[in-house]
Amino acid sequence: MNVATSAVPNDLNAFWMPFTSNRQFKKSPRMFVAADGMYYTTSDGRQVLDGTAGLWCVNAGHKQPKIVEAVKNQIEELDYAPAFQMGHPKAFELANRLADLAPGDLNHVFYTNSGSESVETALKLAIAYHRAKGQGTRTRLIGRERGYHGVNFGGISVGGIVNNRRHFGSLLTGVDHLPHTHLPEKNAFSKGLPEHGADLADDLERIVALHGPETVAAVIVEPMAGSTGVLLPPKGYLQRLRDITRKHGILLIFDEVITAFGRLGAPFGADYFGVVPDMITTAKGLTNGIIPMGAVLVSDEIHDAFMNGPDYMIELFHGYTYSGNPMAAAAGLASLDVYKEQQLFERAAELAPYWQDALFSLKGLPHVTDIRCAGLIGAVELEPIANEPTRRAFSAFLKAYDKGSLIRTTGDIIAMSPPLIIEKHEIDQLIDTLGDVLKEID
Ligand code: PMP
Repeated sequence: MNVATSAVPNDLNAFWMPFTSNRQFKKSPRMFVAADGMYYTTSDGRQVLDGTAGLWCVNAGHKQPKIVEAVKNQIEELDYAPAFQMGHPKAFELANRLADLAPGDLNHVFYTNSGSESVETALKLAIAYHRAKGQGTRTRLIGRERGYHGVNFGGISVGGIVNNRRHFGSLLTGVDHLPHTHLPEKNAFSKGLPEHGADLADDLERIVALHGPETVAAVIVEPMAGSTGVLLPPKGYLQRLRDITRKHGILLIFDEVITAFGRLGAPFGADYFGVVPDMITTAKGLTNGIIPMGAVLVSDEIHDAFMNGPDYMIELFHGYTYSGNPMAAAAGLASLDVYKEQQLFERAAELAPYWQDALFSLKGLPHVTDIRCAGLIGAVELEPIANEPTRRAFSAFLKAYDKGSLIRTTGDIIAMSPPLIIEKHEIDQLIDTLGDVLKEID
């Protein structure tokens, strides 16, 4: 453990950490120096159970041998190849595999390096698609309150998390937001999808009528909103969005950066909820988090509109230096192999009832106002402390870390999304720790 301890630098100032209260962190840093399977090792030599799969991405567990091996082999063979006017076989192979896995006719793949870039790509494709079809007036975008679509300008414009938007100027024009679907007074402690709130989708009709359907390019939503606190769609809600978008020729984009690759016990949220959108944005679990990579899955209709469109649109003027990067493609292929061989999506579905029971055992503990879950993701919402910036959930996160379990918080919500390889006794360990912590906080 001395090696691990000495690996921590004395000066932590130069790294400006994202989404972190830097002053607080640098006074009492939390450092991981190794990881394996379900556990991180901290710089002080402790084992911490990963209750969040890193940042909702390490679905097959840490340092998964087959994925590590694939990346090692790849770097020895072909380190880098551009995707502009060039190719390498694994990028094509992975695209074929993703197309096979994807629902409906989402048979085409555009590679990015992150969830944020997948979102920007999907929004740009939506606007350009309509233009390729001769409908250049369709430029408006519709997101949703409390939506998280990454941190780039398009994503925060359609996104609806106030803190992510408020400091960054006027953002994109021509954007509207649907109401969020968090209705704790009606839906608290729902098991399965919430009963109330499908009618909130009808607000889309109002927005479309306000501007005229011929001005609207796309609606983007997370089928299950993750980062804002695990908000499941009310029963029938997504189908209504699908019906209304289809009726008006508007594209529907599902941002599945969290929900893709088995998190809900199905390959995609689209499968779990039974609604097929026109594009799906992914990242995270695509490579088990091991190498940055994102992908937008695109329908035949959209892809073919470009291929059969005006000459100037056949070459899409969009893409990244690392689109389809060989290491990422190798990691993606190996991840899909592992998901299949270990039947991890099925495993998540099988464990879901146990996970739900474990989470609901926290009902009745101090400050718990709601519990939500699906597949292997869950949230516990806590009562806010009136007129206080201090959040109980953040105190719970710090205490759980000290007790050897990693959870995540946003505002007053604790979220958990363990690797899909989690065993029942580890679910017990995670939930018992959280239970102990909830009893301790004021
Ligand atoms: N969309 C959604 C739904 C996400 O959950 C996230 C990340 N949590 C993103 C986009 C952004 O992904 P990244 O951090 O890889 O840019």
